Amino acid sequence: MNDETDQRHKERAQKQKQRVDAKIAAATEDKGLLLVITGNGKGKSSSAFGMVARTLGYGHKAAVFQFIKGAENVGERAFFANHPDVIWEKCGEGFTWETQNRQRDIAAAQAGWEKAKQALANPEIHLVILDELTYLVTYRYLSLDEIMPAINGRPPMQHVVITGRSADNAFIDAADTVSAIRDVKHAFRAGIRAQAGIDR
Ligand code: ATP
Ligand code: MG
Repeated sequence: MNDETDQRHKERAQKQKQRVDAKIAAATEDKGLLLVITGNGKGKSSSAFGMVARTLGYGHKAAVFQFIKGAENVGERAFFANHPDVIWEKCGEGFTWETQNRQRDIAAAQAGWEKAKQALANPEIHLVILDELTYLVTYRYLSLDEIMPAINGRPPMQHVVITGRSADNAFIDAADTVSAIRDVKHAFRAGIRAQAGIDR
């Protein structure tokens, strides 16, 4: 009985391996990817910052632009900001309900975007993170006409990650990989504040 089960498992695993190997063999292209990580669940920015670690692991350079929430400190910034292969720019002064000054928010977003454009034109930078970029479009701080040409015209091997809720369809359409993180539960709603190392 056990021998039979083991044998069937082995046969199924062999077939699965053949299918997976065939798919891996068929995927032969390399290209700079555009990724969008959106949705209401937790894990968008932390996923993007995780890709910074992956990139650095291969000895490549990465640039992070923190829009909107530039005033907030996250652990990844403390960890990466002084790394010789990382550019980390805070390009916002906080959420609109914190700053309460639309013109100042727009100025901060546009100044940040000018810096991001330089990274998007630099082939030495392997990965560009545009954290919370979606809100600049939602709040009309920047237009897609200002954003998309820089993203579409980037060096061919450069990867770009856009994070933020409610990603505009223009981002989704242009992207190679899109994840929408679903909010199933969040500790905040049970009255637990942002925990260092997890939420910030
Ligand atoms: P993280 O930075 O943890 O990956 P995120 O980028 O997906 O989160 P944001 O909308 O940028 O989410 O908000 C960041 C902060 O808000 C974090 O402290 C995160 O834990 C918290 N947060 C994210 N999603 C929710 C949610 N659905 N309800 C309450 N708090 C949330
Ligand atoms: Mg975020």
